[in-house]
Amino acid sequence: MSEQHWDVVIVGAGPVGSFAAWKLSEKGHKVLLLEEHSEIGRPFQCAGLVTPKVMEMVGLHDSVLSDVFGARIHSPSGVIVPVGTADEIKTHVVCRKLFDQGITRLSLSAGAQLWLLSQPVSCDNEGDIVSLTINRNGVFQKITTSLLIGADGAHSWVRRTLKLGNPKEWMFGFQVEVTGYEGTNGWLEMFTGQSVAPGLFAWAIPNGMTHRIGVWSKTKDLDGRSCEQLIEYLMNESRWKDRFTNCRETARHCGPIPAGMIKRPWANRTILIGDAAGLAKPTTGGGIGPGICQVHTILEGLSKAISDNKLSTRDLRRIQKPMEKVRKDQERSRALRDFFVSKRSDAELDKNFTLFSRPEVLELINGQGDIEKPVALGMALIREVPEFRMLALKAGFALLRG
Ligand SMILES: Cc1cc2nc3c(=O)[nH]c(=O)nc-3n(C[C@H](O)[C@H](O)[C@H](O)COP(=O)(O)OP(=O)(O)OC[C@H]3O[C@@H](n4cnc5c(N)ncnc54)[C@H](O)[C@@H]3O)c2cc1C
Repeated sequence: MSEQHWDVVIVGAGPVGSFAAWKLSEKGHKVLLLEEHSEIGRPFQCAGLVTPKVMEMVGLHDSVLSDVFGARIHSPSGVIVPVGTADEIKTHVVCRKLFDQGITRLSLSAGAQLWLLSQPVSCDNEGDIVSLTINRNGVFQKITTSLLIGADGAHSWVRRTLKLGNPKEWMFGFQVEVTGYEGTNGWLEMFTGQSVAPGLFAWAIPNGMTHRIGVWSKTKDLDGRSCEQLIEYLMNESRWKDRFTNCRETARHCGPIPAGMIKRPWANRTILIGDAAGLAKPTTGGGIGPGICQVHTILEGLSKAISDNKLSTRDLRRIQKPMEKVRKDQERSRALRDFFVSKRSDAELDKNFTLFSRPEVLELINGQGDIEKPVALGMALIREVPEFRMLALKAGFALLRG
């Protein structure tokens, strides 16, 4: 083999691609990481929420800007449901630049190579090897690899070039970073209703010295508005406008959120991971945790397959098989999200929030409310709260039994 052959080439040095580069390099594979930008972690589109479980897996506590103990969730008419307790960190808020750079640094320490300002322009994955042409800072270079990994985000070049399908659902997120927000330290706030966040929710996330105010929604629910207009409405006209009076904007971010794993995130000598595979959660839009957990789940099988050079479509389908359960879980959480929030009118949301705020229901939510397991919580609510059970029966909730 020439020097330009790699065991693994990973396109995209976001958190998921870099995590894969780190773990595969640790296993002794020769890994090349390609990143189209000139630095890691910029630009980013993210609120920076990373669960303690995922933080344990990467150990980058230095990137944490603030800890969040719970959320105060507001119904359209102002019913508040507080979820969480002051003694348990529910999620961390990280600086994405430090977080992404931290994971990439770990991959480099483990032996991976990184090419910045580099992107593939052609790819042939049909034979016993993958041939790639890379535009490396204006110079075209041919390389080969045994395994190509697409970790190149929502609009994945690898996914589109190899025609591997499309994520089931797309949301769009828009966020401004502000000083001067009147909030409670350690608690995030979520706002619902047609006027501020049709179908989903808007958020205010404490971020150390500043707050991240954002919203996500689906194009079809926006009714001609943009997410930017929703944020303007939230901050200047909504029932919650007073807490934004002293806000000064310091940054803004927006981007797509692919939430619906594609059916076949594999092909001959190729797999997709993270946002490229459509792994973001339909309930929160979070994609860092699902992508990192995907790599963790398939790592052993993938590493062995690389060592044995068994990387056919069939081999990789078998290795990605555990992800089928994740896809089904995504489907169930989407159905539950639609049932409780996305398909509800403002009046119905108010009714649901009134039920959520009853002490025994709050106890159930706080007892079961693991943000990693929304399906378990949603099902418990349907089982234990008679009003939700009736609604679920009426809606013919067969999907959730599967
Ligand atoms: C407003 C908003 C808020 C969000 N908040 C959260 C949150 O709080 N928590 C959370 O977990 N998730 C959140 N997300 C989602 C999260 O940002 C993504 O799920 C996460 O970044 C996915 O990681 P990734 O490594 O798969 O892809 P990305 O982070 O998108 O990384 C892909 C990398 O590939 C590079 N790349 C792309 N194409 C090429 C190419 N052709 N060649 C070379 N390099 C390429 C990109 O430059 C990038 O570095 C949010 C998203 C939005 C839009």
